[in-house]
Amino acid sequence: MTEPKKVNMEKIVSLCQRRGFIFPSSEIYGGLSSCWDYGPLGVELKRNVKDAWWQAVVQERDDIIGLDASILMHPQTWAASGHLEGFTDPLVECKNCHLRWRVDDLADNNCPSCGGELTEPRLFNLMFKTFMGPVEEEANVVYLRPETAQGMFVNFQNVLNTTRKRLPFGIAQIGKAFRNEITTGNFIFRSREFEQMEIEFFVKPGTDEEWFKYWLEERLNWYVKLGIKKENLRLREHTKGELAHYARVCYDIDYLFPMGWAELEGIANRGDFDLVQHAKHSGKSLDYYDDETKEHFIPYIIEPSGGVDRSALAFLCDAYDEEPDKEEIRVLLHLHPNLAPVKVAVLPLSRREKLTEVAKQIHADLRQCWMVQYDDAQSIGRRYRRQDEIGTPFCVTIDFQSLEDEQATIRERDTMNQIRVPISELKTVLAAKLSGERFDTESLWTAEG
Ligand code: ATP
Repeated sequence: MTEPKKVNMEKIVSLCQRRGFIFPSSEIYGGLSSCWDYGPLGVELKRNVKDAWWQAVVQERDDIIGLDASILMHPQTWAASGHLEGFTDPLVECKNCHLRWRVDDLADNNCPSCGGELTEPRLFNLMFKTFMGPVEEEANVVYLRPETAQGMFVNFQNVLNTTRKRLPFGIAQIGKAFRNEITTGNFIFRSREFEQMEIEFFVKPGTDEEWFKYWLEERLNWYVKLGIKKENLRLREHTKGELAHYARVCYDIDYLFPMGWAELEGIANRGDFDLVQHAKHSGKSLDYYDDETKEHFIPYIIEPSGGVDRSALAFLCDAYDEEPDKEEIRVLLHLHPNLAPVKVAVLPLSRREKLTEVAKQIHADLRQCWMVQYDDAQSIGRRYRRQDEIGTPFCVTIDFQSLEDEQATIRERDTMNQIRVPISELKTVLAAKLSGERFDTESLWTAEG
């Protein structure tokens, strides 16, 4: 991890905590290491990230369908997938302070905390174990899934039989995954409970390289379309040494996080590894019959595997900005409107009943379409800043003039430009603006007074 960025993690963590995006888990008990709770704004951001992904990969495509498999799976799944044997990290322990470290994270052979001597590395399985049923014995061991992928492999035939999909097609899933990571940190970048967004795309062997390239580009573009700056993204090919046991080739989409470049999403060509393994362990055929060529074969799989939490963090870091603003600093999040937790804030200029009555009516009307906040506390300037800081793209202000001309002001977050719009047209104008359309009243924008 190199080349640190200007936005530092402390600022992101502080904003997230201050404004109710993300809190440490079980904070009143001192927190639980590397588990996080998404607050009122965080839950919206996370839902929006997931919705944007689902829209792009399921809703808008003919060749991918969704799935929601259970977190607990038959233990044989993990023998077949190789997780029981191979989902390990080499771990060392400090002989002095007894802290444990992942060998890959160490710069030298000393404990990063106290400089003490370290033990020889031993392999540590990252899967969380638990027991199914009332008897805690080895025969009842089940695992919290460390990835969502396996649920899609084991349902390959179910999906094939019920949807009549033909190759190439994919299954997409969003869900929780758990890893007992040795070294966590960097806020929600690496936690022990997180959410993944994964696609398993089944293709005919021989077409896999083409599809692999296609998905690299497709996934990279998804981040760019949602506002991540191109210069903060890069593709990195896995070296032979770091390639997972199942992968023929793998690229990471890296993002330039405040701590440096790090993986945002992995895209792997898994070949036929998974279906072959599950067929072997389950005794069920996971063949595909090609009606055109009359052949039976096991499809290859291209897997774009991203993290909801890491994406949310990248979107926050990329959107974070500070601008000089008279004597103060204007903190704002340039979040894409689709990702912004709150789309519109309705702000009556004062708490005079005549104004609040109209503003509340507008609020009630707009909230049927979007997440809309109503705020009448403190000066209008402060309220604008509060919305800027959480990335609200538009504020609607009702002033005394509104009572006479039945118009309201729409104020835009990034430019702070303002436009007067008939109240009856608010929904239409906001819908167009939120969907990114340029509005032909653009010339009417005036600088914020
Ligand atoms: P890393 O090398 O950072 O440990 P990985 O290569 O093990 O990640 P994958 O198994 O490819 O990760 O998982 C796919 C995606 O799931 C990652 O790109 C990331 O977005 C997310 N992810 C994996 N582990 C974690 C974690 N501990 N916390 C948050 N997100 C995670």
